[in-house]
Amino acid sequence: YADGPRTLREFVETTWAYRGTPFLIAGEQRYSYAEFFAAASALAVRLRERYGLRSGDRAVIAMRNHPEWQIAFWAAQLAGLVAVPLNAWWTEGEFLHVLEDCEPGVLLVDGERLGRVAGWARRTGTRVVLFHGERDGGGEGDEAGLRVERYEEFPAPDPLAAPPDVEPRPEDDATILYTSGTTGRPKGAVATHLAQAGAALNPRYHAAASALARGVIPGQGPAPVSLMTFPFFHVAAFTGFYGAMAAGGTLVLMHKWDADEALRLIRAHRVTHFAGVPTTGLQLLEAAERAGDGLEGLTLFSTGGAPAPPALVARLTARYGERVEPRNGYGLTETSGGVLAHFGDEYRAEPGGAGRPTPVTEVRVAGPSGEELPDGEAGELWLRGQSLFRGYWRDAAATEEAFGDGGWFRTGDLAVRREGRVSIVDRIKDVVIRGGENVYCVEVEGVLHDHPDVADAAVLGIPHPVLGEEVAAVVRPRPGAGVTAGALREHVGGKLAAFKVPARVLFTDGPLPRNATGKLLKNRLRAVVEGAEEGAEGSL
Ligand code: ATP
Repeated sequence: YADGPRTLREFVETTWAYRGTPFLIAGEQRYSYAEFFAAASALAVRLRERYGLRSGDRAVIAMRNHPEWQIAFWAAQLAGLVAVPLNAWWTEGEFLHVLEDCEPGVLLVDGERLGRVAGWARRTGTRVVLFHGERDGGGEGDEAGLRVERYEEFPAPDPLAAPPDVEPRPEDDATILYTSGTTGRPKGAVATHLAQAGAALNPRYHAAASALARGVIPGQGPAPVSLMTFPFFHVAAFTGFYGAMAAGGTLVLMHKWDADEALRLIRAHRVTHFAGVPTTGLQLLEAAERAGDGLEGLTLFSTGGAPAPPALVARLTARYGERVEPRNGYGLTETSGGVLAHFGDEYRAEPGGAGRPTPVTEVRVAGPSGEELPDGEAGELWLRGQSLFRGYWRDAAATEEAFGDGGWFRTGDLAVRREGRVSIVDRIKDVVIRGGENVYCVEVEGVLHDHPDVADAAVLGIPHPVLGEEVAAVVRPRPGAGVTAGALREHVGGKLAAFKVPARVLFTDGPLPRNATGKLLKNRLRAVVEGAEEGAEGSL
């Protein structure tokens, strides 16, 4: 990486090499790399010269996966601003909390979001750049737009626009990414240009390593066409769009996740790479099984953002053999994207693993006093390296807590290392301690997923007067399956020790609550399970 780009501006300028290639496809709309760059440059000039924004000012982006999201993000980078992508699904109250936290100088939003930020924009006199195109289903923007005085639409691409004459330094801030808030309030992880430039090359490294493992020369063959199913605001998407941009690839965008529509787009655009959370990955596989296929053109099937059930790679291999490469990527908001990847034969041989680090990432499995543990022992996963964030925005206490001695970042995940490969055991906060025995929810969830009648499963700890905690499971059966709690207990008991077998099993017909990256919202589930009648089993 020594001679790679050291800022995001340098990185995006490398895509000029692909100027004639399609970069973004959304419905009927297409942007080549050149058109995209022209649109981002025109917006960057406006942000800097007309709006008077200065280096270090924050630019909030709150949109669905429209091409304009990418234009907004890269315009911010070309203008020397700090891009702050926000979760598009947040409510007005959630937006308010973060807007007050990061005090942006401009809001780049779509019509669906405008109503949720309009009050704040008006109160603070903040400028709004609005995307309100045909693909933007929201009508609420029309009315809300009237309440914002200082708003303009996105500019048209200007092929003659040169980006502003500002060169961010590697140590300048490039992004603030808010954590998904699964375990508390979202915190703003601040990453420098150097960190994001490292993150931008991580997927390139994994692509090269996987090519070599298959005996192929890296970088040869046609550029990838990827179906983008992660919401752009989440760090998992960064790995996807950085990877595409580094290779001159094309991103096919979806307005909304739908497995059958995904299958249609994969066929129509000859998609080669799928990347998504494990839940969407499983749904896509099922859609292909129902349709008698549609995934035969894929070369890569990659999941990340949440633990993938081991059954996923087994099903993929059973159906497509070695033609489709399975990959599992592990990363956090704080590492600016995927930093571990598990692929190919290694993944098939160890379906519960998360893989090996990239060259700019160091891994330690730490014991109670931070000492490095030997192979095979579980400890907290600590990370160090170029793509790491530098701290939480305006939160010195949380920053100090997150970093151990020597600049190691404590991930909060429990992990085991074997011969350089890491497996994530569970989030430390999720581990159930039942009468002194540790039960790792991810392991029990993986076994439940193996059962043919189970569509989805969550395992969690609930208070118990004697044991401290006991193991509970919430299961969504496959439609029409008549599975019982007893049958599931027997299934788990056949594979795992008796103390790991869920004492309570509840069923639900609806989808389990998950966030944007497929993580189970265990606090919400816990409240429901604890609220269920004592000893109750059956439907929630
Ligand atoms: P908060 O800190 O606000 O609770 P969060 O940690 O949920 O937010 P993210 O950065 O989105 O926010 O999630 C990172 C976490 O996702 C990791 O710590 C890990 O627990 C989980 N994760 C991501 N990828 C994988 C994977 N491949 N396998 C297992 N777990 C994963």
